[in-house]
Amino acid sequence: MNSKITIAIDGYSSTGKSTIAKELAKRLGYIYVDSGAMYRAVALFAFQQKWIGTDFFQVRSLVENLKHVSITFVYNAELGFAETYLNGINVESDIRSLEISNYVSRVAAIPEVRKLLVSLQKEMGVSKGVVMDGRDIGTVVFPDAELKLFMTASPDTRAKRRFDELRARGEEVTYQAILENVIYRDHLDTTREDSPLTKAIDAVEIDNSQLTREAQAKTIYDLTLQILRKNN
Ligand code: C5P
Repeated sequence: MNSKITIAIDGYSSTGKSTIAKELAKRLGYIYVDSGAMYRAVALFAFQQKWIGTDFFQVRSLVENLKHVSITFVYNAELGFAETYLNGINVESDIRSLEISNYVSRVAAIPEVRKLLVSLQKEMGVSKGVVMDGRDIGTVVFPDAELKLFMTASPDTRAKRRFDELRARGEEVTYQAILENVIYRDHLDTTREDSPLTKAIDAVEIDNSQLTREAQAKTIYDLTLQILRKNN
């Protein structure tokens, strides 16, 4: 099976998209791209410049300075995935904080930000052999992807997962704050004007509230094999 395909994984916050995308990419020998990390890096940039806070957002300053934002991914063999760099600095941990999670969806709603990141994402996928996760991958970035998945799970399940993840990293957060963030981001992501989160008509929906990680991985891998066989 030589010909490579493009796999687009979209869905709500904390539905385990990146976990499954990473696993799948590893198994297939494909490149994994976390598009959310790119939006998070831009949000971190705005935060570092003091252009965004709870009750303010200097959108013009950010838009005018997007040319000074360079986002790269550098593979870390020890971790087994690529870490995110903002202007040459490893920001993998900083972009995952609850504070940046609280700002990122406002930043991601800015059309100029989306235009820039979507063009970078399209470039990363030109040679296929890519698994990319996000919110608009199957609808905007790779509308022709051979496999599109749309992940869902109950807000409770998702908040619990994100809570465990942040606590494991030593961040002092409450479950309630995480739940509110998950619901808040879903709302902004599904109601924004530019490329709202929506299921592509040809996407396969997977609700993993009740699925074990192994069962989910098997379902998705089987689906991938079916498509690869058809394509070869
Ligand atoms: O995937 P993750 O939760 O890290 O994404 C962070 C945020 O980035 C999302 O809540 C959404 O606002 C934005 N995003 C987006 N389009 C993508 C990926 C992420 O708008 N393709």
